[in-house]
Amino acid sequence: MSNNIQSVRGMNDCLPEMTDTWQGFEAIIRDWLRRYGYREMRTPILEHTGLFKRAIGEVTDIVEKEMYTFVDELNGESMTLRPEGTASAVRAAIQHNMLYDGGKRLWYTGPMFRHERPQKGRYRQFHQVGVEALGFSGPDVDAELIVMCADLWRALGIAPTLQINTLGDVESRQRHRKKLITYFEANQDALDEDSKRRLHSNPLRILDSKNPAMQALNDAAPKLMDELDAAALAHFDALQALLDANGVTYEINPRLVRGLDYYNRTVFEWVTDQLGAQGTVCAGGRYDGLVEQLGGKPAPAAGFAMGIERLLSLMELGSVTLAPAVPDAYIVHAGDAAQAFAWKVASALRGEGLAAVLHCGGGSFKSQMKKADASLARFALIIGDDEAAVQQVTLKPLRGTSEQTRVDVAQAIEFLQKVST
Ligand code: ATP
Ligand code: MG
Repeated sequence: MSNNIQSVRGMNDCLPEMTDTWQGFEAIIRDWLRRYGYREMRTPILEHTGLFKRAIGEVTDIVEKEMYTFVDELNGESMTLRPEGTASAVRAAIQHNMLYDGGKRLWYTGPMFRHERPQKGRYRQFHQVGVEALGFSGPDVDAELIVMCADLWRALGIAPTLQINTLGDVESRQRHRKKLITYFEANQDALDEDSKRRLHSNPLRILDSKNPAMQALNDAAPKLMDELDAAALAHFDALQALLDANGVTYEINPRLVRGLDYYNRTVFEWVTDQLGAQGTVCAGGRYDGLVEQLGGKPAPAAGFAMGIERLLSLMELGSVTLAPAVPDAYIVHAGDAAQAFAWKVASALRGEGLAAVLHCGGGSFKSQMKKADASLARFALIIGDDEAAVQQVTLKPLRGTSEQTRVDVAQAIEFLQKVST
């Protein structure tokens, strides 16, 4: 073990090569959400612990064992690093009375924190893109959320599959809950520790168990689908009709319950079998009770969140690459007059929107050209005292076989702009 301080386990650095990929991804995301009329919002990474307890539910994996919670020593308050974004989005919507004039389509992105066992696709700091449609009650907006995902997967060159389910409304869930308790009580001996604990507090969550030993028991458990009332069934049917009409294929998975308490009616997950146990790349649904639960005027809501690390892994497996950001030109110069001119040239290029790396640290032309090559720039602009004297530059292609040419700065700019588009 070295004495050097390392990053916190399960929290990753994003080095420049990787940042190129992330920025390429984020650019696609921004453009995609803009086209659907969703607007970005940014909320603090730190919130009062009570927000997540109230929003996510006390008897959930996240609140029971995954939250980074600590006491702010300056005022004794309990604080939590956000484990997800929906609670904050809804808090902000209530706090700023954002729904006073109707529904809002919102999105956010950023780091989330969960104290889980780190492994591929599961980190303690990970990143989500979250999309929330607040104030809309119909199945049309549920369908929009799903259809827009399908659209994004095409843009990213990946093909996860869609599972949907309905959780019904409060009354049908209560009926189902009673039947579940009776069923699991009759099978007490087959329950694992977590499930025993949840039997009376949150039996629906037993169905969400990842323990293989629980699968058979869960498969034979009473189905919520059999308890649904007419309104929830109609909502689910309308959603399916819209998905069918828009060419989105799906599988109905009655076992899909989602890990958070706040969902009702529609729930969905986009899954892949290419990422092992970490196969869910995007998950969401409807959560009509949450706004009221957090103290707002009752308002329906639906949304989803996707895991950026998992999506990028999936793209990588499919050899989908996003173009790295490379400079348009690397400016090489030697001599005092050349240096002074090189600064002006760099400034002129940048002023026209080109990315220009100005060589720093001196050295021979040869060693500077090596740096130019390593920068991945497509062109070097070479400036010696000869060039400086006539205010010109030598434009040398670093890739391919074309010859170098001596040109005016304006010509160089025009040329670089043409080739960079
Ligand atoms: P899982 O069942 O994999 O633990 P979850 O149900 O806890 O997922 P959500 O809270 O629905 O996940 O979060 C939405 C998405 O965020 C997930 O589908 C996944 O892509 C991603 N995600 C969740 N937890 C992590 C994590 N610890 N590391 C990386 N990505 C994560
Ligand atoms: Mg989880």
